[in-house]
Amino acid sequence: MTQQIAILGATGSIGTSTLDILNKHKDKFSVYALSGFSRLDRLFELCQQFLPKRVAVAQKEVDAFTTRLQDAGLKIEVVGGQTGLKDIASDSQVDTVVASIVGSAGLESTLAAAQAGKRILLANKEALVMAGELMMSAARHANATLLPVDSEHNAIFQSLPQAVQQHSENIHNIDYGIRQLWLTASGGPFLHSDFKQMQMATVEQAVAHPNWSMGQKISVDSATMMNKGLELIEACHLFNLPEDKIKVVMHPQSIIHSLVEYVDGSILSQMGSPDMRTPIAHCLAYPQRIESGVQRLDLYKMSQLEFLEPDLQKFACLRLARQAMQAGSWANISLNASNEVAVDAFLQKQIRLTDIANINELVLEAMSTNANSANTINSLQQILLVDGSARQAAQMAINRLSLK
Ligand code: NDP
Ligand code: MG
Repeated sequence: MTQQIAILGATGSIGTSTLDILNKHKDKFSVYALSGFSRLDRLFELCQQFLPKRVAVAQKEVDAFTTRLQDAGLKIEVVGGQTGLKDIASDSQVDTVVASIVGSAGLESTLAAAQAGKRILLANKEALVMAGELMMSAARHANATLLPVDSEHNAIFQSLPQAVQQHSENIHNIDYGIRQLWLTASGGPFLHSDFKQMQMATVEQAVAHPNWSMGQKISVDSATMMNKGLELIEACHLFNLPEDKIKVVMHPQSIIHSLVEYVDGSILSQMGSPDMRTPIAHCLAYPQRIESGVQRLDLYKMSQLEFLEPDLQKFACLRLARQAMQAGSWANISLNASNEVAVDAFLQKQIRLTDIANINELVLEAMSTNANSANTINSLQQILLVDGSARQAAQMAINRLSLK
């Protein structure tokens, strides 16, 4: 029997890398469902190539895409919008859901996959930042398996004892002697730039990551180091640890993908070429291993691996993420929402790269005075309410900047 795979976000960078691996292992995996959003020509090509049973597009595209598939003689069911994505994520025929939609748009379907007890390959870190407690408890109750695709979290997962891999609460068992986790960060394109240079950065410079090829949003997040901030929050939820047990270290070569420090002085890590096909292949085959097509590391040619302390003044977003994690769910949701709005405004050339951190800080301040902020947030509805208010606050901050 082949594993039936649904890829939510199939037209993106993670989706493309996943399909590349699946194509090499047709004896093990079948593509059951795919989703796309704006790149519908690409989605159509994928439908021709992989012949999924179901495909999800935006609601307004359902009729036209159905006709297009029918005209090409393809019998594929088309579903639409968030309802369609959730339906696929919880489809009884699906074994594994690759959660690779970018941003909050991926939240509901990832949660639906957790509630349906699926094996989830989690790339969509924003979902965990917004709804960490809800997602982890849904996964526990429905016996879902959450496997981290994000390279740092995948490296940590691989460096943890098996008993912790299977039950994250075991991380607190003193017999396993886990002192703390280390997330590595490349520093992105502005590692060696000063603040002024970052302030003047163009969109093209900001999305040109030195080591990784990724979608636009995560590339901008890497340039501001908000990505590491989101990953810090993601790691707290995935590995059930407070933020002070998770350190960040700059490692410009992106060869060591993260580390686990043990009380006896051992530090275990996972190394590899900076290519997302390694963590994706690891998750697809876990606990076995499969070929990923990734270029092997030539250890003889690796002359230098550097480790540096992050500059929290220059990369204020990382500092804000720590503060948000200490403050609680409302702050994590607000920071994520504000950042999505601000990144979008930067990509549309409405604000400067360095404005993103300022807007995020303003929104966190504004949201902290909200009377409901202190309440525990334990439903999707509450999360979406906070998300909506933070988006409004971010938009107001952007409008004020544009008026200056
Ligand atoms: P991309 O921008 O390349 O792809 C995003 C995917 O989401 C596309 O399939 C896109 O469809 C779809 N999408 C976008 N907006 C919507 C929406 N409103 N509704 C439904 N679908 C939507 O992003 P990446 O592949 O780079 O990243 C995906 C996720 O994985 C992110 O959360 C990112 O942080 C995470 N991640 C990515 C890494 C990477 O190396 N790329 C590494 C680690 C984590 P379409 O293209 O058709 O519009
Ligand atoms: Mg990462």
